[in-house]
Amino acid sequence: MSVDKSKSKYSFYESVELYFDKAASTMRYDAGLLDQIKACNSVYQMRFPVRIKNKIQVIESYRVQHSHHKLPTKGGIRFSSKVNQDEVMALAALMTYKCAIVDVPFGGAKGGVKISPSKYNEDQLERITRRYTTELIKKNFIGPGTDVPAPDYGTGGREMSWILDTYQTFNYGDINAMGCVTGKPVGQGGIRGRTEATGLGVFYGTREAVSYEEDMAALGLTTGLKGKTVILQGLGNVGYWSAKFFHDAGAKIIAIAEYHGAIYNKDGLNPDKVLKHIKKTGKIVKFPGAETLSERKDVLTMKCDILIPAALEQQIHKGNAKAIKAKIICEAANGPVTPEADAILNEKGVMVLPDMYLNAGGVTVSYFEWLKNLSHVRFGRMDKRFNQGANERMVDLVEKLTGNKLTDRQKNTITKGADEIDLVYSGLEETMVSAYRDIRAVWKKNKKIDDLRTAAFHVAISKVAQSYQALGIFP
Ligand code: NAD
Repeated sequence: MSVDKSKSKYSFYESVELYFDKAASTMRYDAGLLDQIKACNSVYQMRFPVRIKNKIQVIESYRVQHSHHKLPTKGGIRFSSKVNQDEVMALAALMTYKCAIVDVPFGGAKGGVKISPSKYNEDQLERITRRYTTELIKKNFIGPGTDVPAPDYGTGGREMSWILDTYQTFNYGDINAMGCVTGKPVGQGGIRGRTEATGLGVFYGTREAVSYEEDMAALGLTTGLKGKTVILQGLGNVGYWSAKFFHDAGAKIIAIAEYHGAIYNKDGLNPDKVLKHIKKTGKIVKFPGAETLSERKDVLTMKCDILIPAALEQQIHKGNAKAIKAKIICEAANGPVTPEADAILNEKGVMVLPDMYLNAGGVTVSYFEWLKNLSHVRFGRMDKRFNQGANERMVDLVEKLTGNKLTDRQKNTITKGADEIDLVYSGLEETMVSAYRDIRAVWKKNKKIDDLRTAAFHVAISKVAQSYQALGIFP
Protein backbone atom coordinates (compact mmCIF):
# COMPACT_ATOMS: atom_id res chain seq x y z
CA MET A 1 0.00 0.00 0.00
CA SER A 2 1.43 3.42 -0.92
CA VAL A 3 0.66 7.01 0.04
CA ASP A 4 -2.58 8.36 -1.48
CA LYS A 5 -1.54 11.74 -2.88
CA SER A 6 -5.16 12.91 -3.22
CA LYS A 7 -5.67 12.62 0.56
CA SER A 8 -4.98 15.90 2.32
CA LYS A 9 -3.49 14.48 5.53
CA TYR A 10 -3.12 11.17 7.33
CA SER A 11 -3.94 11.06 11.02
CA PHE A 12 -1.20 9.61 13.25
CA TYR A 13 -3.05 6.31 13.62
CA GLU A 14 -3.70 6.11 9.87
CA SER A 15 0.03 6.68 9.32
CA VAL A 16 0.90 3.69 11.50
CA GLU A 17 -1.68 1.58 9.65
CA LEU A 18 -0.25 2.68 6.31
CA TYR A 19 3.28 1.67 7.33
CA PHE A 20 1.89 -1.64 8.61
CA ASP A 21 0.08 -2.31 5.31
CA LYS A 22 3.18 -1.50 3.28
CA ALA A 23 5.23 -4.08 5.19
CA ALA A 24 2.36 -6.61 5.28
CA SER A 25 2.11 -6.48 1.48
CA THR A 26 5.62 -7.98 1.31
CA MET A 27 4.58 -10.95 3.51
CA ARG A 28 2.36 -13.98 3.10
CA TYR A 29 0.08 -14.07 6.12
CA ASP A 30 -3.63 -14.82 6.35
CA ALA A 31 -5.63 -11.57 5.99
CA GLY A 32 -7.55 -12.29 9.23
CA LEU A 33 -4.31 -12.71 11.15
CA LEU A 34 -2.99 -9.38 9.82
CA ASP A 35 -6.28 -7.67 10.76
CA GLN A 36 -6.02 -9.07 14.27
CA ILE A 37 -2.42 -7.88 14.66
CA LYS A 38 -3.34 -4.40 13.41
CA ALA A 39 -6.48 -3.79 15.49
CA CYS A 40 -6.53 -2.00 18.85
CA ASN A 41 -7.85 -4.63 21.28
CA SER A 42 -9.22 -2.33 24.02
CA VAL A 43 -9.82 1.42 24.04
CA TYR A 44 -10.83 3.06 27.33
CA GLN A 45 -11.90 6.68 27.28
CA MET A 46 -12.37 8.45 30.62
CA ARG A 47 -13.72 11.79 31.81
CA PHE A 48 -13.21 12.49 35.48
CA PRO A 49 -13.67 15.52 37.71
CA VAL A 50 -10.82 17.17 39.61
CA ARG A 51 -11.10 20.21 41.86
CA ILE A 52 -8.73 22.94 40.66
CA LYS A 53 -8.76 26.24 42.60
CA ASN A 54 -12.30 25.72 43.92
CA LYS A 55 -13.66 24.85 40.48
CA ILE A 56 -14.37 21.42 39.08
CA GLN A 57 -12.52 20.60 35.88
CA VAL A 58 -13.53 17.58 33.81
CA ILE A 59 -10.38 15.92 32.50
CA GLU A 60 -10.36 13.94 29.25
CA SER A 61 -8.06 10.91 29.25
CA TYR A 62 -7.39 7.55 27.59
CA ARG A 63 -5.75 4.18 27.97
CA VAL A 64 -5.43 2.00 24.89
CA GLN A 65 -4.26 -1.61 24.94
CA HIS A 66 -3.34 -2.31 21.36
CA SER A 67 -2.43 -5.98 21.59
CA HIS A 68 -3.14 -8.73 24.08
CA HIS A 69 -0.99 -11.30 22.25
CA LYS A 70 1.40 -11.02 25.18
CA LEU A 71 0.60 -9.84 28.70
CA PRO A 72 1.02 -7.50 30.43
CA THR A 73 0.54 -4.70 27.94
CA LYS A 74 3.00 -1.86 28.30
CA GLY A 75 3.30 1.78 27.31
CA GLY A 76 3.88 5.29 28.60
CA ILE A 77 1.44 7.92 29.82
CA ARG A 78 1.48 11.27 28.06
CA PHE A 79 0.34 14.57 29.57
CA SER A 80 -0.30 17.05 26.77
CA SER A 81 -3.02 19.44 25.68
CA LYS A 82 -2.92 17.76 22.25
CA VAL A 83 -3.83 14.25 23.51
CA ASN A 84 -6.66 12.61 21.55
CA GLN A 85 -7.88 9.07 20.93
CA ASP A 86 -6.26 8.75 17.50
CA GLU A 87 -2.87 9.72 18.92
CA VAL A 88 -3.08 7.31 21.86
CA MET A 89 -4.16 4.47 19.53
CA ALA A 90 -1.22 5.19 17.22
CA LEU A 91 1.25 5.27 20.10
CA ALA A 92 -0.19 2.03 21.56
CA ALA A 93 0.16 0.28 18.19
CA LEU A 94 3.76 1.46 17.86
CA MET A 95 4.42 -0.02 21.31
CA THR A 96 3.31 -3.48 20.16
CA TYR A 97 5.71 -3.41 17.21
CA LYS A 98 8.47 -1.85 19.30
CA CYS A 99 8.26 -4.57 21.96
CA ALA A 100 8.31 -7.27 19.27
CA ILE A 101 11.39 -5.80 17.57
CA VAL A 102 13.43 -5.75 20.78
CA ASP A 103 12.05 -9.08 22.05
CA VAL A 104 10.35 -7.59 25.09
CA PRO A 105 7.46 -9.95 25.98
CA PHE A 106 4.67 -7.36 26.25
CA GLY A 107 1.72 -6.26 24.16
CA GLY A 108 1.58 -2.56 23.31
CA ALA A 109 -0.42 0.07 25.22
CA LYS A 110 -0.43 3.81 25.78
CA GLY A 111 -2.14 6.36 28.01
CA GLY A 112 -2.90 10.01 27.57
CA VAL A 113 -4.27 12.79 29.77
CA LYS A 114 -5.37 15.90 27.91
CA ILE A 115 -3.77 18.60 30.05
CA SER A 116 -0.92 21.03 29.65
CA PRO A 117 1.21 20.17 32.72
CA SER A 118 2.81 23.64 32.89
CA LYS A 119 -0.64 25.12 33.69
CA TYR A 120 -0.95 23.12 36.95
CA ASN A 121 1.04 23.19 40.18
CA GLU A 122 2.50 20.04 41.71
CA ASP A 123 -0.46 19.47 44.04
CA GLN A 124 -2.93 19.67 41.18
CA LEU A 125 -0.85 17.37 38.99
CA GLU A 126 -0.72 14.86 41.83
CA ARG A 127 -4.51 14.94 42.18
CA ILE A 128 -4.99 14.44 38.43
CA THR A 129 -2.46 11.58 38.28
CA ARG A 130 -3.96 9.78 41.28
CA ARG A 131 -7.51 10.13 39.96
CA TYR A 132 -6.45 8.90 36.50
CA THR A 133 -4.80 5.87 38.19
CA THR A 134 -8.00 5.20 40.14
CA GLU A 135 -9.96 5.18 36.88
CA LEU A 136 -7.48 2.62 35.49
CA ILE A 137 -7.82 0.46 38.61
CA LYS A 138 -11.64 0.54 38.35
CA LYS A 139 -11.54 -1.19 34.96
CA ASN A 140 -8.52 -3.43 35.58
CA PHE A 141 -6.43 -1.36 33.14
CA ILE A 142 -3.37 -1.38 35.39
CA GLY A 143 -1.46 -4.11 37.23
CA PRO A 144 1.85 -6.00 37.03
CA GLY A 145 0.23 -8.80 35.02
CA THR A 146 -2.30 -6.78 33.01
CA ASP A 147 -1.07 -3.34 31.95
CA VAL A 148 2.07 -1.50 33.07
CA PRO A 149 2.41 2.25 32.33
CA ALA A 150 5.68 4.25 32.14
CA PRO A 151 6.71 7.87 31.51
CA ASP A 152 6.20 9.59 28.17
CA TYR A 153 5.92 13.19 26.97
CA GLY A 154 5.13 15.44 29.94
CA THR A 155 5.54 12.78 32.67
CA GLY A 156 8.49 11.35 34.61
CA GLY A 157 9.54 9.54 37.79
CA ARG A 158 7.44 11.80 40.01
CA GLU A 159 4.17 10.85 38.28
CA MET A 160 5.17 7.16 38.27
CA SER A 161 5.64 7.33 42.09
CA TRP A 162 2.11 8.73 42.49
CA ILE A 163 0.76 5.97 40.26
CA LEU A 164 2.56 3.28 42.30
CA ASP A 165 1.38 4.69 45.61
CA THR A 166 -2.24 4.87 44.42
CA TYR A 167 -2.11 1.32 43.04
CA GLN A 168 -0.56 0.00 46.27
CA THR A 169 -3.25 1.69 48.36
CA PHE A 170 -5.94 -0.18 46.43
CA ASN A 171 -3.97 -3.44 46.31
CA TYR A 172 -2.56 -3.59 49.82
CA GLY A 173 -0.52 -6.74 50.38
CA ASP A 174 0.03 -7.50 46.69
CA ILE A 175 3.66 -8.59 46.78
CA ASN A 176 4.15 -7.74 43.08
CA ALA A 177 2.48 -4.32 43.21
CA MET A 178 5.83 -2.58 42.51
CA GLY A 179 5.67 -3.99 38.99
CA CYS A 180 2.44 -2.06 38.18
CA VAL A 181 4.42 0.83 36.67
CA THR A 182 7.98 1.44 35.45
CA GLY A 183 10.18 4.51 35.18
CA LYS A 184 9.96 4.94 38.97
CA PRO A 185 12.73 6.68 40.92
CA VAL A 186 15.41 4.22 42.10
CA GLY A 187 14.37 4.65 45.75
CA GLN A 188 10.80 3.59 44.86
CA GLY A 189 11.59 0.33 43.08
CA GLY A 190 13.01 1.88 39.91
CA ILE A 191 16.12 0.70 38.15
CA ARG A 192 19.39 2.51 37.57
CA GLY A 193 19.67 3.63 33.95
CA ARG A 194 15.91 3.99 33.19
CA THR A 195 15.99 7.81 33.06
CA GLU A 196 18.58 7.87 30.28
CA ALA A 197 17.49 4.58 28.65
CA THR A 198 15.61 5.96 25.64
CA GLY A 199 18.38 8.43 24.75
CA LEU A 200 21.03 5.79 25.33
CA GLY A 201 19.12 3.43 23.03
CA VAL A 202 18.96 6.17 20.37
CA PHE A 203 22.73 6.48 20.70
CA TYR A 204 23.45 2.70 20.57
CA GLY A 205 21.09 2.26 17.60
CA THR A 206 22.57 5.15 15.61
CA ARG A 207 26.13 4.14 16.43
CA GLU A 208 25.37 0.68 15.04
CA ALA A 209 23.68 2.09 11.90
CA VAL A 210 26.63 4.36 11.08
CA SER A 211 29.13 1.52 11.50
CA TYR A 212 28.39 -0.06 8.07
CA GLU A 213 30.77 1.26 5.44
CA GLU A 214 28.52 0.26 2.53
CA ASP A 215 25.49 2.12 3.99
CA MET A 216 27.45 5.24 4.89
CA ALA A 217 29.19 5.37 1.50
CA ALA A 218 25.73 5.41 -0.15
CA LEU A 219 24.98 8.58 1.87
CA GLY A 220 28.38 10.14 1.12
CA LEU A 221 29.40 9.74 4.77
CA THR A 222 32.23 7.97 6.58
CA THR A 223 31.54 5.49 9.37
CA GLY A 224 31.39 6.44 13.06
CA LEU A 225 29.75 9.27 15.03
CA LYS A 226 32.92 11.29 15.71
CA GLY A 227 32.80 14.64 13.91
CA LYS A 228 29.27 14.16 12.51
CA THR A 229 27.11 17.29 12.68
CA VAL A 230 23.84 16.81 14.56
CA ILE A 231 20.67 18.90 14.94
CA LEU A 232 18.21 18.17 17.73
CA GLN A 233 14.55 19.10 18.17
CA GLY A 234 13.36 18.90 21.80
CA LEU A 235 15.76 18.91 24.77
CA GLY A 236 13.46 16.95 27.09
CA ASN A 237 14.22 13.55 28.57
CA VAL A 238 14.85 11.69 25.31
CA GLY A 239 16.45 14.64 23.51
CA TYR A 240 18.80 15.63 26.32
CA TRP A 241 20.13 12.12 26.90
CA SER A 242 20.49 11.42 23.18
CA ALA A 243 22.41 14.69 22.78
CA LYS A 244 24.60 13.92 25.78
CA PHE A 245 25.67 10.49 24.50
CA PHE A 246 26.23 11.80 20.95
CA HIS A 247 28.28 14.73 22.33
CA ASP A 248 30.37 12.41 24.54
CA ALA A 249 31.06 10.21 21.49
CA GLY A 250 32.51 13.19 19.61
CA ALA A 251 29.52 14.22 17.46
CA LYS A 252 28.96 17.97 17.08
CA ILE A 253 25.49 19.22 18.15
CA ILE A 254 25.29 22.36 16.01
CA ALA A 255 21.66 23.37 16.65
CA ILE A 256 18.94 22.67 19.22
CA ALA A 257 15.27 23.66 18.99
CA GLU A 258 13.13 23.88 22.12
CA TYR A 259 9.57 25.04 22.80
CA HIS A 260 10.50 28.74 23.12
CA GLY A 261 13.01 28.97 20.26
CA ALA A 262 16.22 27.56 18.81
CA ILE A 263 19.98 28.12 19.01
CA TYR A 264 22.88 27.47 16.63
CA ASN A 265 26.65 27.27 16.90
CA LYS A 266 28.69 25.78 14.04
CA ASP A 267 31.41 24.68 16.49
CA GLY A 268 28.99 22.65 18.60
CA LEU A 269 26.85 23.06 21.72
CA ASN A 270 27.35 21.31 25.05
CA PRO A 271 23.92 19.81 26.00
CA ASP A 272 24.68 20.02 29.75
CA LYS A 273 25.43 23.74 29.53
CA VAL A 274 22.34 24.35 27.39
CA LEU A 275 20.13 22.50 29.88
CA LYS A 276 21.62 24.49 32.76
CA HIS A 277 20.81 27.70 30.86
CA ILE A 278 17.19 26.55 30.31
CA LYS A 279 16.82 25.71 34.01
CA LYS A 280 18.19 29.13 34.97
CA THR A 281 16.32 31.34 32.47
CA GLY A 282 13.30 29.17 31.60
CA LYS A 283 14.11 29.33 27.87
CA ILE A 284 16.74 28.11 25.41
CA VAL A 285 17.07 31.46 23.62
CA LYS A 286 20.03 33.76 24.32
CA PHE A 287 22.34 30.89 25.23
CA PRO A 288 25.75 32.56 25.58
CA GLY A 289 28.01 32.03 22.58
CA ALA A 290 25.23 30.76 20.30
CA GLU A 291 23.09 32.44 17.68
CA THR A 292 19.36 32.57 18.55
CA LEU A 293 17.20 31.63 15.56
CA SER A 294 13.94 33.45 15.00
CA GLU A 295 11.91 30.32 14.10
CA ARG A 296 12.39 27.08 16.06
CA LYS A 297 11.17 24.99 13.12
CA ASP A 298 13.97 26.34 10.88
CA VAL A 299 16.49 23.94 12.44
CA LEU A 300 14.74 20.99 10.82
CA THR A 301 15.83 22.06 7.33
CA MET A 302 19.36 23.18 8.16
CA LYS A 303 22.39 21.36 6.75
CA CYS A 304 23.67 18.54 8.98
CA ASP A 305 24.62 14.86 8.86
CA ILE A 306 22.09 13.70 11.47
CA LEU A 307 18.73 15.20 12.44
CA ILE A 308 17.16 13.98 15.70
CA PRO A 309 13.48 14.91 16.16
CA ALA A 310 12.90 14.22 19.88
CA ALA A 311 9.78 16.27 20.65
CA LEU A 312 6.45 15.20 19.16
CA GLU A 313 4.85 13.52 16.16
CA GLN A 314 4.30 14.86 12.60
CA GLN A 315 7.15 17.40 12.71
CA ILE A 316 8.54 16.44 9.29
CA HIS A 317 5.67 16.58 6.82
CA LYS A 318 5.03 17.12 3.13
CA GLY A 319 5.48 20.87 3.63
CA ASN A 320 9.12 20.67 4.76
CA ALA A 321 10.37 17.19 3.73
CA LYS A 322 11.75 18.36 0.38
CA ALA A 323 13.86 20.98 2.16
CA ILE A 324 15.43 18.50 4.61
CA LYS A 325 19.21 18.42 4.16
CA ALA A 326 20.12 15.84 6.79
CA LYS A 327 21.47 12.52 5.48
CA ILE A 328 20.21 10.51 8.43
CA ILE A 329 17.04 11.09 10.48
CA CYS A 330 16.98 9.47 13.91
CA GLU A 331 13.37 9.20 15.04
CA ALA A 332 13.86 9.60 18.79
CA ALA A 333 10.26 10.85 19.15
CA ASN A 334 7.30 8.69 18.21
CA GLY A 335 5.92 9.37 14.72
CA PRO A 336 7.92 12.53 13.89
CA VAL A 337 7.76 11.83 10.12
CA THR A 338 4.43 11.67 8.27
CA PRO A 339 3.94 9.03 5.54
CA GLU A 340 3.97 11.70 2.82
CA ALA A 341 7.28 13.02 4.14
CA ASP A 342 8.61 9.48 4.51
CA ALA A 343 7.98 8.83 0.81
CA ILE A 344 9.78 12.08 -0.13
CA LEU A 345 12.74 11.28 2.15
CA ASN A 346 13.01 7.77 0.66
CA GLU A 347 13.12 9.24 -2.81
CA LYS A 348 15.83 11.67 -1.74
CA GLY A 349 17.86 8.75 -0.33
CA VAL A 350 17.73 9.93 3.30
CA MET A 351 18.27 7.12 5.81
CA VAL A 352 15.44 7.13 8.38
CA LEU A 353 16.05 5.12 11.56
CA PRO A 354 12.44 4.37 12.56
CA ASP A 355 10.96 5.27 15.96
CA MET A 356 9.63 1.79 16.70
CA TYR A 357 13.21 0.54 16.71
CA LEU A 358 15.29 3.57 17.67
CA ASN A 359 13.42 4.73 20.77
CA ALA A 360 12.85 1.20 22.13
CA GLY A 361 15.54 1.71 24.80
CA GLY A 362 12.92 3.02 27.24
CA VAL A 363 10.68 -0.03 27.08
CA THR A 364 13.69 -2.35 27.10
CA VAL A 365 14.95 -0.97 30.41
CA SER A 366 11.36 -0.78 31.69
CA TYR A 367 11.27 -4.53 31.06
CA PHE A 368 14.43 -4.91 33.18
CA GLU A 369 12.77 -2.80 35.91
CA TRP A 370 9.65 -4.97 35.83
CA LEU A 371 11.80 -8.13 36.09
CA LYS A 372 13.63 -6.59 39.06
CA ASN A 373 10.30 -5.76 40.76
CA LEU A 374 8.94 -9.27 40.25
CA SER A 375 12.15 -10.95 41.40
CA HIS A 376 12.44 -8.60 44.40
CA VAL A 377 16.22 -8.40 44.07
CA ARG A 378 18.59 -5.86 42.54
CA PHE A 379 20.53 -7.02 39.47
CA GLY A 380 24.12 -7.85 40.43
CA ARG A 381 23.36 -8.31 44.12
CA MET A 382 23.90 -12.07 44.16
CA ASP A 383 26.88 -12.44 41.83
CA LYS A 384 28.93 -9.22 41.82
CA ARG A 385 31.34 -10.26 44.62
CA PHE A 386 31.48 -13.84 43.44
CA ASN A 387 32.50 -12.80 39.90
CA GLN A 388 34.96 -10.27 41.25
CA GLY A 389 36.64 -12.97 43.39
CA ALA A 390 36.82 -15.41 40.47
CA ASN A 391 38.33 -12.70 38.22
CA GLU A 392 40.90 -11.79 40.88
CA ARG A 393 41.99 -15.41 41.20
CA MET A 394 42.33 -15.62 37.39
CA VAL A 395 44.47 -12.46 37.22
CA ASP A 396 46.65 -13.67 40.13
CA LEU A 397 47.25 -16.93 38.27
CA VAL A 398 48.12 -15.16 34.98
CA GLU A 399 50.54 -12.88 36.87
CA LYS A 400 52.16 -15.89 38.52
CA LEU A 401 52.49 -17.84 35.24
CA THR A 402 53.77 -14.89 33.15
CA GLY A 403 55.79 -13.14 35.86
CA ASN A 404 54.18 -9.82 34.76
CA LYS A 405 52.45 -7.56 37.29
CA LEU A 406 49.42 -5.41 36.40
CA THR A 407 48.91 -1.97 37.99
CA ASP A 408 46.08 -1.73 40.55
CA ARG A 409 44.03 0.26 38.03
CA GLN A 410 44.45 -2.38 35.29
CA LYS A 411 43.63 -5.09 37.81
CA ASN A 412 40.46 -3.31 38.98
CA THR A 413 39.24 -2.80 35.42
CA ILE A 414 39.57 -6.51 34.66
CA THR A 415 38.27 -7.92 37.93
CA LYS A 416 35.37 -5.59 38.74
CA GLY A 417 32.06 -7.43 39.15
CA ALA A 418 29.00 -5.97 37.40
CA ASP A 419 26.70 -3.52 39.22
CA GLU A 420 23.05 -3.01 38.28
CA ILE A 421 23.91 -0.06 36.02
CA ASP A 422 26.62 -2.07 34.18
CA LEU A 423 24.13 -4.87 33.50
CA VAL A 424 21.40 -2.46 32.37
CA TYR A 425 23.74 -0.69 29.92
CA SER A 426 25.11 -3.97 28.60
CA GLY A 427 21.63 -5.51 28.24
CA LEU A 428 20.40 -2.42 26.40
CA GLU A 429 23.44 -2.30 24.10
CA GLU A 430 23.03 -5.97 23.19
CA THR A 431 19.31 -5.43 22.54
CA MET A 432 19.76 -2.39 20.29
CA VAL A 433 22.67 -3.85 18.32
CA SER A 434 21.08 -7.23 17.66
CA ALA A 435 17.68 -5.69 16.78
CA TYR A 436 19.38 -3.40 14.22
CA ARG A 437 21.16 -6.38 12.70
CA ASP A 438 17.82 -8.22 12.32
CA ILE A 439 16.19 -5.19 10.67
CA ARG A 440 19.15 -4.49 8.39
CA ALA A 441 19.29 -8.14 7.29
CA VAL A 442 15.63 -7.96 6.17
CA TRP A 443 16.26 -4.61 4.43
CA LYS A 444 19.27 -5.97 2.54
CA LYS A 445 17.79 -9.38 1.66
CA ASN A 446 14.23 -8.57 0.64
CA LYS A 447 14.07 -6.89 -2.77
CA LYS A 448 10.53 -5.59 -2.13
CA ILE A 449 11.71 -3.62 0.92
CA ASP A 450 13.44 -0.34 0.22
CA ASP A 451 13.65 1.29 3.64
CA LEU A 452 14.43 0.52 7.28
CA ARG A 453 10.92 1.36 8.52
CA THR A 454 9.29 -1.26 6.30
CA ALA A 455 12.00 -3.72 7.34
CA ALA A 456 11.31 -2.95 11.03
CA PHE A 457 7.54 -3.49 10.55
CA HIS A 458 8.36 -6.73 8.70
CA VAL A 459 10.36 -8.01 11.68
CA ALA A 460 7.64 -6.93 14.15
CA ILE A 461 4.75 -8.41 12.18
CA SER A 462 6.54 -11.78 11.84
CA LYS A 463 7.14 -11.96 15.58
CA VAL A 464 3.57 -11.05 16.59
CA ALA A 465 2.21 -13.41 13.91
CA GLN A 466 4.29 -16.26 15.33
CA SER A 467 2.80 -15.61 18.78
CA TYR A 468 -0.76 -15.82 17.44
CA GLN A 469 0.05 -18.87 15.36
CA ALA A 470 1.49 -20.57 18.45
CA LEU A 471 -1.97 -20.23 20.04
CA GLY A 472 -3.32 -22.35 17.19
CA ILE A 473 -6.07 -19.85 16.28
CA PHE A 474 -4.65 -18.65 12.98
CA PRO A 475 -3.11 -20.52 10.04
P1 NAD B 1 9.64 15.47 27.41
O1 NAD B 1 8.38 16.09 27.81
O2 NAD B 1 10.65 15.12 28.46
O3 NAD B 1 10.42 16.37 26.31
C1 NAD B 1 9.88 16.90 25.15
C2 NAD B 1 10.57 18.24 24.88
O4 NAD B 1 10.19 18.73 23.60
C3 NAD B 1 10.19 19.30 25.91
O5 NAD B 1 11.38 19.85 26.45
C4 NAD B 1 9.39 20.33 25.09
O6 NAD B 1 9.56 21.65 25.54
C5 NAD B 1 9.98 20.14 23.70
N1 NAD B 1 9.11 20.56 22.60
C6 NAD B 1 7.77 20.44 22.49
N2 NAD B 1 7.33 20.91 21.30
C7 NAD B 1 8.44 21.33 20.64
C8 NAD B 1 8.66 21.91 19.36
N3 NAD B 1 7.65 22.12 18.50
N4 NAD B 1 9.93 22.20 18.98
C9 NAD B 1 10.97 21.98 19.82
N5 NAD B 1 10.82 21.43 21.06
C10 NAD B 1 9.57 21.11 21.46
O7 NAD B 1 9.21 14.17 26.56
P2 NAD B 1 10.09 12.89 26.25
O8 NAD B 1 9.77 11.85 27.27
O9 NAD B 1 11.50 13.28 26.00
O10 NAD B 1 9.39 12.41 24.89
C11 NAD B 1 9.72 12.98 23.64
C12 NAD B 1 9.29 12.03 22.53
O11 NAD B 1 9.93 10.77 22.72
C13 NAD B 1 7.79 11.74 22.48
O12 NAD B 1 7.41 11.53 21.13
C14 NAD B 1 7.67 10.42 23.23
O13 NAD B 1 6.52 9.69 22.87
C15 NAD B 1 8.95 9.74 22.77
N6 NAD B 1 9.41 8.65 23.65
C16 NAD B 1 9.66 8.89 24.97
C17 NAD B 1 10.14 7.84 25.75
C18 NAD B 1 10.54 8.04 27.21
O14 NAD B 1 11.11 7.11 27.80
N7 NAD B 1 10.33 9.20 27.80
C19 NAD B 1 10.31 6.55 25.20
C20 NAD B 1 10.04 6.37 23.85
C21 NAD B 1 9.60 7.43 23.09
